[in-house]
Parts: sequence; C-alpha cells; structure tokens
Amino acid sequence: MEFRGIGVSSGIVIGKVFRLEKITYDIKPNWVRDTEVDEEVARFLKAIHTSKEQLLSIRKKIESLADTAQLQIIDAHLLILDDQMLVNETVEYIKRHRLSAEWSLKRVLDKIGEQFDKMGDAYLKERKDDLSHIGNRIFNNLFGYGHTNLADLKEDVIVVAHDLSPADTAQMRKERVIGFVTEIGSKTSHTAIMAHSLEIPAVVGVTGIYDAVTTGESLIVDGIDGIVHVSPPQPTFIAYLNKQRRYKYYERELLKMKDLPAITTDQKKVTLLANIEFIGEVKSVLERGGEGIGLYRTEFLYMNRFYPPTEAEHFRVYKSLAEQLSSYPSIIRTLDLGGDKFISQLDVYEELNPVLGLRAIRLCLEHIDLFKTQLRAILKASHYGKLKIMYPMISGLDELREANAVLKEVMDELRKANIPFDEEIEVGIMIEIPSAAITSDILAEEADFFSIGTNDLIQYSIAIDRVNKNVSYLYEPLHPAILRLIARVIESGHAKGILVGMCGEMASDPKYTLLLLGLGLDQYSTNSDALLKIKKIIRSVSYAEAREIAQQALTYCSASETEKFITNLMEERFPDVFCYFGDGDED
Ligand code: PEP
Ligand code: MG
Repeated sequence: MEFRGIGVSSGIVIGKVFRLEKITYDIKPNWVRDTEVDEEVARFLKAIHTSKEQLLSIRKKIESLADTAQLQIIDAHLLILDDQMLVNETVEYIKRHRLSAEWSLKRVLDKIGEQFDKMGDAYLKERKDDLSHIGNRIFNNLFGYGHTNLADLKEDVIVVAHDLSPADTAQMRKERVIGFVTEIGSKTSHTAIMAHSLEIPAVVGVTGIYDAVTTGESLIVDGIDGIVHVSPPQPTFIAYLNKQRRYKYYERELLKMKDLPAITTDQKKVTLLANIEFIGEVKSVLERGGEGIGLYRTEFLYMNRFYPPTEAEHFRVYKSLAEQLSSYPSIIRTLDLGGDKFISQLDVYEELNPVLGLRAIRLCLEHIDLFKTQLRAILKASHYGKLKIMYPMISGLDELREANAVLKEVMDELRKANIPFDEEIEVGIMIEIPSAAITSDILAEEADFFSIGTNDLIQYSIAIDRVNKNVSYLYEPLHPAILRLIARVIESGHAKGILVGMCGEMASDPKYTLLLLGLGLDQYSTNSDALLKIKKIIRSVSYAEAREIAQQALTYCSASETEKFITNLMEERFPDVFCYFGDGDED
C-alpha cells in the first residue's frame, strides 16, 4: 500500500512500525459541588505542575544531546504552561461555572485556538498544534494516563503516529528511531523541523497512515520524495533497497567535497553559505562544509509565544551563533514579520493587502522599540564573532537611511554605556522589491552588501502571491524580467565594489547554479541539503563557460524558452545531480 505526504528530511529507511497509540479523551461538562471547587482548582494546578516537571525532566535528559532548536521548542512549551491566559482563565472558568477542570481547560483551549484561527496567518495556525500538544499533556495528567516514552525503545523502529509533539520527537534517539511518519504536519511544523535537526528520514502530512498500520509491520519511508510503503511487495522492497544504496553512495561522494573550496576550474571562487531558521541547524551546515550563515530568519524567534523575545533572549541566541561559527560570518536578518508571517504579538491593524502592507523593515520602523531591542542584541553579540546585519524589504534609499539612523542611535547608546561591539560591522540589505533592484546602483552607495531575495522579488515583479496555488504556475525564476533584474543588481553591486549574494530559494536549486555563476553572483546562501550539490557543479565548470551560458540565457524572450535551454543543458551536463537515484521502482 502506497501513501504520499511531505518528505521533510532526506533519506530512505526500511524497517518495522512502532505505532504510537492515539489517546482520545471523553470530556463532558461535569459539575462540581461548591465545596469541591477549591479542590478542582488544586487538581488542575497539580496537572500543570506535573506537566512542567515532565517537560523539565525531558529537557534535562536531552540537554547534552539535543541541539538548541529542540531545547528552544521544549522551552517554548514550558512557557505556554506558564501562560496567564491558559492557567488563570481555566481557574476562573472552574470557579465561575463550577465545572470540572477537564471541561474548563477544553473551553479555554478552544477559545485560544479560535483566536489563533482568526489571526489568519499560516505560521501562527501551526502554533496551534503546539497548544494542542500541551493541552494533551495536561489532559493526560488530569485523567491519570501514562505517557509512552520514546526514549525507552529497545529495538530499531519507524514511529508512526497521528501526531507527534516536539517533546515526543525530542526524546527520540537516532539509534532507536530510524524514521517517522505522521498524519499531521507540514514543512514548517515543529515536528518537521525536529526531523531535520535530528537528520531522521521522515514524511509528515500522510492522511490515513495511522489506521493503515500495526506495530511490527514492515514499512519503507522515502523522505526524499515523501512516499511511504506499508508491507511492500518484494519488487518494491528491492527497488527501494537499490534507491537507498544509490542515495547513500551519492551522499558519501558529496561529503568528500566538504572541505574543498567552491572554486571553478579557472579559479573563480564563490562563497557557499546557508539559510537557517533555528541556530540548531548550524551543526548540519558546518558538517556540509557551509562557510557561514547567509540568512538567519530571526522571525522564528517569535514563534510559540504571546510576547516578543526580550533583548537578553535575542542576545543569547546571537552570541551562541557568533561563537559556533567562529571566524565564519553570519548574516542576521532583522525582523521580517508581517505579510504571510505572523504578527499577532504586535498591535497592528488587519490589512486588506498584508503582503503590500506594514511588513518587515516598515513594521520595524513603525515599532522602533522592537527594532532597537533586536539591533542592540545583535550589536552586543557582534563582540563575540563575525556578525553582519541585513534589513529585509528595503524599497529605496530613504528607508535604508532611516534604518541606519536607528542603528546609529543604538550604537551611540552602547558606546556611552561602554558596551563593546564590532565597530566595523557590515550592514547590508535584501534586494527583494523591484524598486530596490532598479535603483540598486543608488543603494550600493550606502549598503555594505546585497543579498537577492528571489522569493519575494519574483512575487512582486510578476505580481503573483507566492503562497497562492492558483497562480504558482507563473512563479518563474527564469522569466526574462527576473534575469534582467538579477543581472542588474549584480552589476550595480560590483560597480561599487560590494559583494552580491542570493538567499532566495533560486540559489538553492542546482538547476540555476551555473546561470547565477555566469551572471557574476559572489555568494550563494542555500538550504543545507543543497550546499554540496551546488559545490559539485561549481567545481566542475569554468567561469568562462558559465558566463557564456548566462549571456545565452539572457537572449531568450520567454521563461519557457530559457527553462528549456537551462534544463536540457543541466541534465545533460550533470546527470548525477538531476537524475541520480531514480524513483524507487526501477533498478
Ligand atoms: C526572499 O524573499 O527571497 C527571502 C529569502 O526571504 P523570505 O523567504 O524569508 O521572505
Ligand atoms: Mg523575503
């Protein structure tokens, strides 16, 4: 039986199912007597206390083994248990309505959940899952149910669950849990992020898998293509053994290049950096030979919480980043909230057109305190390593100057307080709005570097919502308009002697590597999975050849023509990168 979902962590595993039992709660509005109300409140508070103790004990167990992302998520869950809205409102509900702790908690969770739904942004909707994981833990303790401890597994298994909480995932040890599959989840869900940092093949969002398997059954999990096979017939089994072998071989071969420079055959050197959302990802970036962080999306620090992070929290994370990277640079992008990214913590009006609204740098310039808190923390941490600052969504020179004026103010305050920071810190901008790309010659005068954000640049240039499936067919990196803008930005940057990188998804796709190299891109910032594939391409071509290809690509009149040219060329030139391990049903 074949199931499809979202592959969130590469690799293929073949093994036995461990089905994590789904607990259902039968919660009814039971009344409590007047004389029992205090007792009921105490029972609820005890369940909160026990839940905290359980999470703290998980945290302690994984402290030395887990990476920061996992710890951060457990900490975020601990914070939810402290949340006034959750705890006080449930207590109030019990007292006011004289109803059981279970029912009162359910009502409060439903209410908070509804508020999340109303916020209408995808990131926050996913955080609703966190709330429900915490809710289930409290219910378990109220009902007195036990918890399956994934840390105690005695043999290698593939965990299949309706849903996995980050606490469950954090306890998984790679030696025992060789893969997992869940019905709930998406690419940016916490379970997916955990799978990535644990480097366990996983497929999430697999509808119906929970009822289709029993513990002990054999399973194939293909995290590359998001496919799961339950009790596969022998030919499928053999085909996947082959696919697994090819994939492992390919990975091993790529890893051999980890310490080699990204240099062309005629000695043109480029820099390969990585994009991260959590600092826990740094380890895998370094293991794949990344030379630094080209985009740290700091808005993820705002996840799972009802209040923005404090300066001390920001500082701790940035200092850790600076220290882990030592001499390698890390580009910290200042808050890019708004648009399709959550803004619930800020008191901003709902907008008709949020993607064109008060987002990113505009939002920071409107909420100066919020901006200053982050800038102060970055500057302080810059004393401990090589940090750079990058502003998102700059539309023109005035905005850049305004942001820099705030930065200067923060710098003056730090100097006055004798707090050390890197006086030479570089301050660059993302080029992701057409107006910035067109005026890049002007912006290059006052920015220390450029990083092209193709995700938004394509969205705004072609006028297509990047998360709207109906128009996704128009999302074309090879549209002549996009190629001309990229070429222009690189030229303007070079004319003023500043470095031009790219951190949009286009940089992560090996199909575009040669073209971008030929356009003169200095720096690629990619998903860590893509780093070595891109290095392989760069090391096997000459810059002269890449330039010719780029010139040729610029002559086409439509995206489809350029696409045909580039796809044929790349597949022919690099068959191992583009058709390397088949689809599992061939040898
Ligand atoms: C981009 O827009 O290309 C980019 C890298 O930023 P984000 O995807 O976070 O908007
Ligand atoms: Mg962007």
